[in-house]
Amino acid sequence: MIETNLAPLAHSRMNETQRGLIIVTTGPGKGKTTAAMGTALRAVGQGLRVLMLQFLKGSWHYGELDAVKAFGDNFVMRQMGRGFVKVGQEKPDPEDVRLVEEAWGEAVREIASERWDLVILDEINYAITYHMLDAQLVIDFLKSKPEAVHVILTGRNAHPGIVELADTVTEMREVKHAYQKGILAQRGIEY
Ligand code: ATP
Ligand code: MG
Repeated sequence: MIETNLAPLAHSRMNETQRGLIIVTTGPGKGKTTAAMGTALRAVGQGLRVLMLQFLKGSWHYGELDAVKAFGDNFVMRQMGRGFVKVGQEKPDPEDVRLVEEAWGEAVREIASERWDLVILDEINYAITYHMLDAQLVIDFLKSKPEAVHVILTGRNAHPGIVELADTVTEMREVKHAYQKGILAQRGIEY
């Protein structure tokens, strides 16, 4: 029989003082947003208060929007976009930029308010990559954020400056994805 003890993998020492971490999940493989939500679930279970702001999302109805209602004010999720972004143009659509700026304003207010222990900025990396949000602005704010607040930033192509600033960075590698076989997005798995 093989025995494994995963506890040391997680932490060799536990710490009761909350030291806010900056965490990034990036890369082309599936699992960035759902990893952030998994962390959120763990946090809520420990009595922490979690806010997830979804940059760029808005048109699809994700299962998690209904699921988090069960947690009341302890886990709140807000869609801040319109669900699609026109990319590949020279300049981003001004309406997308406006929505991203609004979402960023909300992120700053909420993180600074210290009402939340964990704030997830979902897909913010895309907003930065597509020049809808200035990376330096985000970096400067994160450097001055309240000490105890954890922040998770998700989305492909995380900006190098954000990767450098972050404490924990995980890159999802795509080995394969059902989409490549022509299998369309599955309810409960993709949305
Ligand atoms: P998830 O929300 O499932 O954790 P993600 O956050 O890693 O995915 P995004 O880049 O935000 O992925 O893309 C969102 C959508 O695209 C999801 O429906 C996801 O399943 C799908 N997706 C993610 N990676 C791939 C891929 N490599 N090929 C095709 N579709 C993908
Ligand atoms: Mg995502």
